[in-house]
Amino acid sequence: AFVCSAEKTVVIGLAADSGCGKSTFMRRLTSVFGGAAEPPKGGNPDSNTLISDTTTVICLDDYHSLDRTGRKEKGVTALDPRANNFDLMYDSRVRDLLDFSIYLDISNEVKFAWKIQRDMAERGHSLESIKASIEARKPDFDAYIDPQKQYADAVIEVLPTQLIPDDNEGKVLRVRLIMKEGVKHFAPVYLFDEGSTISWIPCGRKLTCSYPGINFFYSPETYFSNEVSMLEMDGKFDRLDELIYVESHLSNLSTKFYGEVTQQMLKHSDFPGSNNGTGLFQTIVGLKIRDLYEQIVAERAAASVAAAKL
Ligand code: ADP
Repeated sequence: AFVCSAEKTVVIGLAADSGCGKSTFMRRLTSVFGGAAEPPKGGNPDSNTLISDTTTVICLDDYHSLDRTGRKEKGVTALDPRANNFDLMYDSRVRDLLDFSIYLDISNEVKFAWKIQRDMAERGHSLESIKASIEARKPDFDAYIDPQKQYADAVIEVLPTQLIPDDNEGKVLRVRLIMKEGVKHFAPVYLFDEGSTISWIPCGRKLTCSYPGINFFYSPETYFSNEVSMLEMDGKFDRLDELIYVESHLSNLSTKFYGEVTQQMLKHSDFPGSNNGTGLFQTIVGLKIRDLYEQIVAERAAASVAAAKL
């Protein structure tokens, strides 16, 4: 039984600053794998939990070696390697174990807008205290979290819109899906024509767009000296059911049937980011990971059959 499950174990790494959508992404991913998309009742959604028959979340928060008091005494934050037991989990040794890795790169402006929305509107924190808490985390975030994006196979970058001049509300977002070329079992998604550069405004007869509209952009690029494909969406969807029009123009989506991206987006329309590129690209990456998982498992099964014949 052990051999069988080891053969089927695929490890995916997901990194981002806190409050930047890791849990939301995991819920979308689990749903694509046919799980419940929700942690078990009463369970910590972030902790090491089996959230479906196929998916287990190993949360690095569980590998802190120093608690809040210990960190205060030593003067380090939770993001500092000295506050974590990396002999148990996480550093370049873990990176080498990962079958695929994702980084959610939320720009400071957007991070700030999300925190205000959550901590001020929902938790009653003051604007000043939110600013201060972001500032306090920043040095360690810059030192230990942000550098991880250069190693990721896929990065979802979230920036303020370029469709509204000087927008700082963070309601409309420009989201970029950066996909490394040459990663085994992972064929980057493309728009219309693979490897070309395309700017596309889908608004018109088949897609309802209110102000400020939607802009897609696709192009080959270089990211930390890696060759990547970049798919960008700026703007927000008015009607999620019309997403099928956008989906039908994207290739290499790894869907199992026509419209699966749209179906997933509609199913979880209450999750944050469902009307923009964050939800769309998280869903697409989820489908790509399912595909990668199936390819790896099939490859291992074929290899063990071949080994058994020797
Ligand atoms: P994490 O697990 O990284 O701490 P969560 O997925 O729990 O992050 O999200 C934390 C909060 O951040 C959400 O409750 C929401 O307020 C905000 N948020 C996350 N993703 C988005 C998004 N795509 N669009 C808007 N807000 C978001």
